[in-house]
Amino acid sequence: MFYAYQIKSLEAYRELYKKSVTHPENFWSDVATHFQWHRKWDKVLDWSFAEDDLHIEWFKGAKLNITENCLDRHLPVNGNKNAIVWVPNNPDDRCRILTYNVLFKKVCQFANVLKNNGVKKGDSVCVYMGMIPELAIAMLACARIGAVHSVVFGGFSAKSIAERIHDCQARHVITCDGSYHGAKIVPLKDIIDDAVITCPEVERVIVRTRTHTPVSMIKGRDVWWEDEIAEVESLGMENCAAEDMDAEDPLFTLYTSGSTGKPKGVVHATAGYMVYTAYAFVNVLQFDPRDVHFATADIGWITGHSFVVYGPLLAGGTTIIYEGIPVYPDASSLWKIVERFHVNSLYTAPTVVRSLMSYGDEPVDKHDTSSLKVLGSAGEPLNDEAWHWYHQKIGKGKAPVVDSWWQTETAAPMISSLAGVTPGVPGWATLPLPGVQPVLVDSEGKEINEQVASGNLCIRFPWPSIIRTTFGDHERFKQAYFTTFPGYYFTGDGASRDEAGNYKLTGRVDDVLNVSGHRIGTAELENAINMHNGVVESAVVGYPHALKGQGIYAYVIFKSGHQIDEKEVRQNIAATVSRIIGAIAKPEKIQFVPALPKTRSGKIVRRILRKIAENDLENFGDISTLQDTEIIDTIVQGRL
Ligand code: AMP
Repeated sequence: MFYAYQIKSLEAYRELYKKSVTHPENFWSDVATHFQWHRKWDKVLDWSFAEDDLHIEWFKGAKLNITENCLDRHLPVNGNKNAIVWVPNNPDDRCRILTYNVLFKKVCQFANVLKNNGVKKGDSVCVYMGMIPELAIAMLACARIGAVHSVVFGGFSAKSIAERIHDCQARHVITCDGSYHGAKIVPLKDIIDDAVITCPEVERVIVRTRTHTPVSMIKGRDVWWEDEIAEVESLGMENCAAEDMDAEDPLFTLYTSGSTGKPKGVVHATAGYMVYTAYAFVNVLQFDPRDVHFATADIGWITGHSFVVYGPLLAGGTTIIYEGIPVYPDASSLWKIVERFHVNSLYTAPTVVRSLMSYGDEPVDKHDTSSLKVLGSAGEPLNDEAWHWYHQKIGKGKAPVVDSWWQTETAAPMISSLAGVTPGVPGWATLPLPGVQPVLVDSEGKEINEQVASGNLCIRFPWPSIIRTTFGDHERFKQAYFTTFPGYYFTGDGASRDEAGNYKLTGRVDDVLNVSGHRIGTAELENAINMHNGVVESAVVGYPHALKGQGIYAYVIFKSGHQIDEKEVRQNIAATVSRIIGAIAKPEKIQFVPALPKTRSGKIVRRILRKIAENDLENFGDISTLQDTEIIDTIVQGRL
């Protein structure tokens, strides 16, 4: 079984790719026909990447609701099929299975809860929950009534959440009492309470029970999810009509780091997101509607939005939501899930593959992984060794490995092999999907036409799920993506291209790090480190890290005249970063330095700091513009 828009052979790929470039509107119109619409579009695409006329509108004039495509559409034939299989953190707890009928009912009920609590079409709703089915239910319920969900990853601090709540102007927050994370409990409601102290605009916090962690429920503001559901049940509010949404109405905002200190709210539009996400999901994984799919990503990241929730449900498949982490209670937890639920497609991140590989073969050998047909990876390049281990050990040499390149801003894979259809190459993301037109440009913004080349990766033409704006700041959207190389969408990544047209990603070319597949801006990190009261100045760079891909290396100037206990101060700085951003952003290495290498105009020369962190001490390039060249030796000597 397959989908009408599924590409089944290399020849079909080549043909469709050509069509998608020569007749993009016909191409996407053909794909979009296979979804459910209240009203079809008047115009497939209206666009300009010009700075003074920047606009992108897909399926103009169309009306739809994405939840009808995720849920209602499947009910007549597949109502009893498993939509979500939930696997708890603790193996002794029971799994939960939600069929499409059950999920539909729960989404409608919670949509009514949202309405009863004053959520209206167009409102932003902040969602800060653990990996439980109710997180997906909350997202879908928002989409059902036209509210715009903004999911915040459970690892972010109160301050980071408050920043996001302010930015997207959310008056409603949905959370849990706590969440399980391996052996730890994260007190989500406590963290929300701390965040909301500085967010008087928040009127309602809906709290779902999970860990039974004691929480303070504030009268007039906080309500229990379960009580609210009981209320709509008692009122017989079982159904909830799907709101009629314009194609370009926002579906969600998801925050990601940029090269300035403030995270940006990436806004995705309803129709384009739906069409491209389903298209990419089905084609990259060569999904079969009967398949059981397991993506390990947290729903708080784009991979979780598109490959745990929306993609599989749009495809009418079965998606596994795993509450726990890959190494708890031991390194076989993923393989246990694969065996137990006969998982067909596994999608994870290189950092997870490397981490599991480090435990050796024994945890895998205990389990039958033969149901796996496809192995996917995203977040950073899957290095050779990890690629081969994934392919040989997990896929028994049979399941194709797809390394897919995408971003929060693209919503779904853009450059990727299509499992078993187009060839996979270790370390390479390979070919663009039909509809995606990558180009390499030089530092002047000139397109590089040689076939074999390296440069800045840009996209020449819009695809349906391209970011539409950064919430509340359209100017920043322009600046971040369309001004560096006018006329193109700039990805922020560098890439190489080979003879066959394959692309290999070579890393960020802006001041953004990629730690365990998560983007963290160096400016954001430096702001956090500088908040520690002893820190005068800091500079952060990335360095190669065996498990995380990139580690965080911070150079810190500490107040002079203080005798410091370096170990203790390092811990305090790490605690400060945890408090300001979240534990995910803690630097691995903190080196105390008397000064930073700066140009005469006062700019930090990060290139030198990067080389020192990478232990590449051979050639620092041109250092003639430095205020003080001796500082380099001092920093090299103190290198960690
Ligand atoms: P995020 O928006 O947090 O998903 O991060 C997107 C960034 O992760 C991209 O701009 C790339 O730098 C990196 N990335 C994602 N997938 C890949 C991949 N398959 N290969 C190389 N880099 C990737």
